[in-house]
Amino acid sequence: MVDGAAKITPLRPRRPCPECGRPSARDTYPFCSPRCKDVDLNRWLSGSYVIAATEEEAAPDRSAGLD
Ligand SMILES: [Zn+2]
Repeated sequence: MVDGAAKITPLRPRRPCPECGRPSARDTYPFCSPRCKDVDLNRWLSGSYVIAATEEEAAPDRSAGLD
């Protein structure tokens, strides 16, 4: 009696949480907890904000006075 056919589970590589490296949870995949999910989201939001600010600063319009 072998009913192993009903237990076919695809071998999915478990990715560690991108935030803390702990095993990810099913609910918050690919993160380990809602907290890490939130941290990542916040990083994205603040990250894009920083990029936008940097881009603005990286446009020196008044560098022509180098005489
Ligand atoms: Zn985590």
